[in-house]
Amino acid sequence: MHLHGTQKINEHGRLEIGGVDTNVLTEAYGTPLFVYDLADIRSRAEQFHEAFQSNHVTYQIAYASKAFSCIAMMELADRLGLSLDVCSDGELFTAMQAGFPVERIHFHGNNKTPAELEMAVDAGIGCIVVDNFTELSWLMAMTEANAKPMEVLIRITPGVEAHTHEYISTGQEDSKFGFDLNSGQAGRAIEMIQAHEYLHLLGVHSHIGSQIFRAEGFEEAVKEIYQSIRVWIDRYDFYPEVLNVGGGFGIRYAEGDKPLPLHVYIDRMVEAAKKEAALLDRPVPEFWIEPGRALVGEAGTTLYTTGSRKDIPNVRSYVSVDGGMTDNIRPALYQAEYAAVLANRAGERAEELVSVAGKCCESGDMLIWDLELPAVEKGDTLAVFSTGAYGYSMANNYNRILRPAVVFVEDGLHECVIEREQLADLTRRERSYTAAKAVDTAK
Ligand SMILES: *Cc1c(COP(=O)(O)O)cnc(C)c1O
Repeated sequence: MHLHGTQKINEHGRLEIGGVDTNVLTEAYGTPLFVYDLADIRSRAEQFHEAFQSNHVTYQIAYASKAFSCIAMMELADRLGLSLDVCSDGELFTAMQAGFPVERIHFHGNNKTPAELEMAVDAGIGCIVVDNFTELSWLMAMTEANAKPMEVLIRITPGVEAHTHEYISTGQEDSKFGFDLNSGQAGRAIEMIQAHEYLHLLGVHSHIGSQIFRAEGFEEAVKEIYQSIRVWIDRYDFYPEVLNVGGGFGIRYAEGDKPLPLHVYIDRMVEAAKKEAALLDRPVPEFWIEPGRALVGEAGTTLYTTGSRKDIPNVRSYVSVDGGMTDNIRPALYQAEYAAVLANRAGERAEELVSVAGKCCESGDMLIWDLELPAVEKGDTLAVFSTGAYGYSMANNYNRILRPAVVFVEDGLHECVIEREQLADLTRRERSYTAAKAVDTAK
């Protein structure tokens, strides 16, 4: 068993996170429950800061808030000296409700609506990462009409394929994101922005994918971007002040996942950029990265209560929990794998092989296909590790299942930061259809 962050097995043989017995947490808040180990998030933010500082470059670490967004998380990100990526009005709203400094907010997305762009321009956020010509034309008109300046990066697809699942790789040419390099789209976008009175082209952005375990991908992306920069210097006299290489730093979900120390990614990408910049006799740009899962993924653990089981002789034993694809859709969405333990009996030896099923009416609602556990009984607490990213943020109400509560733990303290949804929340925004025709009620 491989524990994460401050997790340990205490003298009662139970899993403890942030100095809090998971039994205390399930009694206080019920299950399913997301538990975030704040010390782990702090340590990862610190590792990123130190990596850039030891390389003596200017930088911003923008937390990709889609991984897990709520007011308490935005406040924490601010205290940790992070910047913030948002990709919708809802994520921007949450950040603003949390009082996150707008100048450190960056807006992403392949289909930002005019209303979202307006919201970002009005708020005066730090930067918009322009993804396509549709958005660019709206942004040009809007900043002009309001006489409001805006810093922009252009998102490009560097043609680097991260070695990762197809749905979470984005840097290849055939992608819905960003401007294509080969056809000259990126160059045309640069010219348009340069000629515009209110837009300032700060630099370039690329994001090659997620759950990346090799630093070479970032190195290649930097080299590839510099190939284009050479052309842009000649044609448009454009050299980026900011080089944003995106996120996607891999984490450990299951055994077999072998993430690199965070500084290795940073060392390699900075080294590559320093080399390229020196060849051109230009300054090293400011570095921006956008980690999501690398900051919060391993810090999150989901606690479930086990319920029914179905043993099919010589086939499989299904153990069901009180959540599933409503709080963690990643296994169903991209065959994501997870590790787990019985939190209330974490000291016991594994005795059986089970498959952990969710409670939704979908055969694909499985959390873990093969998991070795002590003989599972109903009422045990199953702790699934590394659910801090894209778990709660992808949570949904399928089968009208309620979204879990979220609790932060640190130094023996625990505090609820998102309340468990209540049944009344489900119908709060609903109305009867009053124009129903009389025939509906006729027998
Ligand atoms: C999703 C995303 C990220 C964060 O990805 P992680 O794998 O969580 O680090 C960063 N930048 C962009 C543009 C993204 O779309």
